[in-house]
Amino acid sequence: MTTPQEHLVDWLRDAYAMEKQAETMLKAQAARLEHYPDLKLRIEQHLQETMGQQQLLEQCLARYDASPSAMKDLMGKMAAFGQGAGGAVMSDEVVKGGLAGYVFEHTEIAMYRTLIAAAQTVGDQLTVRACESILKEEQAMATWLYENLPQTVSKFLLRSASERDDAKR
Ligand code: MG
Ligand code: FE
Repeated sequence: MTTPQEHLVDWLRDAYAMEKQAETMLKAQAARLEHYPDLKLRIEQHLQETMGQQQLLEQCLARYDASPSAMKDLMGKMAAFGQGAGGAVMSDEVVKGGLAGYVFEHTEIAMYRTLIAAAQTVGDQLTVRACESILKEEQAMATWLYENLPQTVSKFLLRSASERDDAKR
């Protein structure tokens, strides 16, 4: 039998691994972007938020005397490396990165909706509040990407049509 609290702790570990993956992905994207300053700036801002989210999750886990799972972190990092390495060879990397980012933010939204429900069920108000504040940041990033992806796509297509080799990033 697994208790609701054990599930909650397990999912907090999943979320922590997800945020490690986010850190790797956002860092790689920010480092490569050159010609999309608004996107680069927003990614750097969300990277800072992501580091704060990791701290909040660490605190939630610590209240259960639990630590992040090294195994889950490793798998998340490998997944992020795969995405970064894939992006580097694509001629439309900025667009593929935007798509991947949009999907990733919604995965995070689903994760924190899940954690909030679980923490509410267990009666852990501190975790509810931590996850609610993280959820707001993920939703803001998802909304920003939703609103700004079209102009990134247009800019990419114009640069790409002028045969600029670096249009992709
Ligand atoms: Mg996040
Ligand atoms: Fe995020």
